[in-house]
Amino acid sequence: MSVLWVLGAGQLGAMLKQAGTPLGLDVRPVDIESTETLALSPTDIVTAEREEWPETVATKQLATHSNFVNLTTFPQLADRLTQKQWLDRLALATAPWFPVESDSTATYAYETLGERVLMKQRRGGYDGKGQYWLKQSEETEIPEDWKGRAIAEQAINFDEEVSLVGVRGKDGETHFYPLTLNLHINGILYASISPLERLKPLQSKAEAMLSKLMDALDYVGVMAMECFRVGDKLLINELAPRVHNSGHWTQAGASVCQFENHVRAVAGLPLTPSEVKNQSMMVNLIGVDLNYDWLNLQGLELYWYKKEVRPGRKVGHLNFCSGNPEILQAALRKLNMPAPYPEALAWLSEHLP
Ligand code: ATP
Ligand code: MG
Ligand code: MG
Repeated sequence: MSVLWVLGAGQLGAMLKQAGTPLGLDVRPVDIESTETLALSPTDIVTAEREEWPETVATKQLATHSNFVNLTTFPQLADRLTQKQWLDRLALATAPWFPVESDSTATYAYETLGERVLMKQRRGGYDGKGQYWLKQSEETEIPEDWKGRAIAEQAINFDEEVSLVGVRGKDGETHFYPLTLNLHINGILYASISPLERLKPLQSKAEAMLSKLMDALDYVGVMAMECFRVGDKLLINELAPRVHNSGHWTQAGASVCQFENHVRAVAGLPLTPSEVKNQSMMVNLIGVDLNYDWLNLQGLELYWYKKEVRPGRKVGHLNFCSGNPEILQAALRKLNMPAPYPEALAWLSEHLP
């Protein structure tokens, strides 16, 4: 039987493997630093759990396989410059921006984008790392080492942040989960909640935006679109050509989770609309120690990534799903976690229907 190789062996790879197991699929995440000679067969399939990778013994073997799904899409979305160019070309709304070149000046940034401008490194940023604020009131200048390596974006005064996770099959069939409402604190995703009745009016608009993009790229698999909601408008913040943290709730709250949908799509298996079960919410575990007392909470599922705990590092997540909102509220009340969790838990409590 053919193998589904995953470039990268972090938590996303592990959860893809977990999702493939009941389907009888042999999913094998590969650590990019592995020096092993992989037993690749021509009928195998290759996917990735990360947008970009260094050239290593492992990645060279995987990236030269003829069945690497979406291989040419990765570099185009992994570079924020070409990602933004794709959005502009497809007339998909995004924060106004310009490329930071060797001769770019802060004056130009303030003139064209306003008094607060967010520079983002073109490659490699995640969890808000790789950002730099330019503030006219503080006369911030563009550091020399950001020139030629970043884009500059207008600061968006958004109402809230939502994301859409969708899947596209080899024949172009698409399916989407309900929009997810996300809370970021200091650039890191802390909590998500879905579905929300009040986001329903935005669903078809969001689906049309992500469909247009996935179709243009002839994309196969799960893709996530992070958006800013400004009134009834959606601006695309960024795209992830992979399973996404804001879709983790689907493990508890949907008949087919995002990991299974990705595996099904890249393996060419049938796709169906997912049945969404009840109310879900997700809490990321960031820089906190494992605590099995969490397992006392009704409606909770724990995912611990077995990573060394460091401040600011995502080391797991908690999914909650229940048809009884009181069970979810009770779980939030009982979770005793350090700052800034009280803020994140209160946010979830407020947004629960
Ligand atoms: P991720 O972990 O989601 O990949 P990232 O490091 O790639 O994060 P972004 O998603 O671009 O970074 O930004 C992180 C967060 O910073 C956003 O979710 C949002 O809260 C804030 N942010 C990003 N761009 C803007 C903007 N133009 N205006 C205001 N806030 C922004
Ligand atoms: Mg990102
Ligand atoms: Mg993001």
